[in-house]
Order: sequence, then structure tokens, then C-alpha cells
Amino acid sequence: MPRVALIAHDDEKPEIIDLANEYESSLSSFDLVATGTTGERIAAETDLEIERKESGPIGGDTQIGAEVVENRLDGIVFLRDPLTAQPHEPDIAALLRLCDVHDVPMATTRTSAEYLLDGLAAEK
Ligand code: PGA
Repeated sequence: MPRVALIAHDDEKPEIIDLANEYESSLSSFDLVATGTTGERIAAETDLEIERKESGPIGGDTQIGAEVVENRLDGIVFLRDPLTAQPHEPDIAALLRLCDVHDVPMATTRTSAEYLLDGLAAEK
């Protein structure tokens, strides 16, 4: 079962919830993990089961980065707010770098997220 991490900045939370609703049937056969608030919102608005790490600003991105290093993740959907600097920018940069180092696919837009989820669903 593919393991996928879901993360969205506040501005992008409506978008990731919309994506989770649209992809709910695919995602229900994935092992899902998310940063704290993203996971809480998705769990509240879908029937998906989702493991929640800490909230991003207090270390959730870093916890997900650790899973990349441990080769536990098959992909990450990270819908970032491109217009607002985040207080945890160094953690976000670290997560992007780890995905590059370990060749874990990360989608940062709605369309690339759809390709990523379709690709993982087809691989199963
Ligand atoms: P959150 O974290 O899901 O807890 O809001 C996301 C982030 O900003 O990394």
C-alpha cells in the first residue's frame, strides 16, 4: 500500500480538502500521514483515516522529512502558499531537499498532485 504525506499551508487547505474529496476512493487504499492541522481538517471533512504528525510550524514537516530519510514514503503532496513567507521556512526547505536527495516525488500544485496520486494508484 503506498504511503503518502499530505501537507498544506493555511491558504491552500481548502484546495487539499477539495483534492482529498475528489480522490477519496483512491486515497482510502493508501496509507496516509499528514501534518497536524491539515490532517485534522481532512479527517473532519472526509471519511479517510489519517495519521497526524505535529503541526508544521512546530515540527510536523521535519517529522515527515524523517520518514523520507527512512524510506517510508512513496510521495508527498505539499500545497504551499507561494505568496506568504512561513515561520518554518527552514523546515520546508529541508523537506524539499530530502525529497530531492532520496528521489521521493513531491507535488506542490493541484495538477501535479493529481498526477502523483494517479501514478501511485496505477502502480499498486
Ligand atoms: P499544518 O502544517 O498542517 O499543521 O497547518 C502545515 C505546514 O505549514 O507545514
